[in-house]
Amino acid sequence: MKMSWKDYLRDVEPYVAGEQPKMANLIKLNTNENPYGPSPKVEAALKLLESEKLRLYPDADASGLKKALAELYHLKPEQIFIGNGSDEVLALSFLTFFNSEKPLLFPDITYSFYPVYTRLFGIPYKSIPLNDQFEIVLDDYKQENGGIIFPNPNAPTGILVGVDFIETLLQANPNSMIIIDEAYIDFGGESCLPLLERYDNLLIIQTFSKSRSLAGLRIGVAYGNTEAIEALQNVKNSFNSYPVDYIAQTLATASVLDNEDMLQKAKKVMSARDYTIKELRQLGFEVLESKTNFVFARHPHLDAKKLLADLRTAGIIVRHFNQPRIDQFLRISIGTMAQMEELIKFLKEY
Ligand SMILES: *Cc1c(COP(=O)(O)O)cnc(C)c1O
Repeated sequence: MKMSWKDYLRDVEPYVAGEQPKMANLIKLNTNENPYGPSPKVEAALKLLESEKLRLYPDADASGLKKALAELYHLKPEQIFIGNGSDEVLALSFLTFFNSEKPLLFPDITYSFYPVYTRLFGIPYKSIPLNDQFEIVLDDYKQENGGIIFPNPNAPTGILVGVDFIETLLQANPNSMIIIDEAYIDFGGESCLPLLERYDNLLIIQTFSKSRSLAGLRIGVAYGNTEAIEALQNVKNSFNSYPVDYIAQTLATASVLDNEDMLQKAKKVMSARDYTIKELRQLGFEVLESKTNFVFARHPHLDAKKLLADLRTAGIIVRHFNQPRIDQFLRISIGTMAQMEELIKFLKEY
């Protein structure tokens, strides 16, 4: 039999992102984007961009952006790694830190990109069931492992654990790298950044896509001790030695320098979230306690897939995960107050 190039393909099952529909006038509550847009300082910086500068390679160190982040979070620039969206930072972190024969541990219900990376890189892993309340159980992570990763707050449950919880986990696993994906931490959670001072086996990953309203710019960040960041940088530089482009570095820096704007908008999102949770519960939905910019809810008498379809017909797009244990839930991103009122109005009539 003659062989073809198709016999040598890497066969992978990719992550599928939430849809970006082309129709206007939809209430788009499916990908956890921020409804308020980036800081006006980002707009101003955008207008000052110089096309002439595109001739040159960008700052390979992203030093302006790192300096701004270092000042904001009281870290050294050498503790900061910049990547093209936190998905890239996560992928490079898996490649850098999870090279053990022992299994990587993460929850059975979590960010669905993690199992995609483990398969892509051939990393052994074990998924650890959340309890019946969809919480992460600390004791389940006191077993042999080659690393631990989960988002805090977890996605798509929205449930937050405290800094104490993560500190206990770090103490129980001093020889494992523990990665905390803080994609949603600005919506009412407490970051574990202060733990970096005391634990060298912690890596914290954040994104500009949610609270900073810059999903289209693609900026992700890892924070760790200098040695871990250097290791991550070395892997990254073996792949692509430039971090993010000149435009992204400039606009991301402008966003960090106007942190107050982010905090204000996050506050608005949180109050729309709390309104949504209250109203959904009144309509009989079970809603998990969210510290994110989305809610995860199911109704005892409504089929999630049918509701998903009917919402869509009404012009409201939300996200459904066809996965055991959560296939009766819908994940609803928090939009503006007006959008959430529209959603509730639809559901009241439904
Ligand atoms: C949205 C999200 C990311 C990805 O963010 P990008 O920076 O846009 O790639 C990572 N982790 C979790 C848990 C997320 O929800």
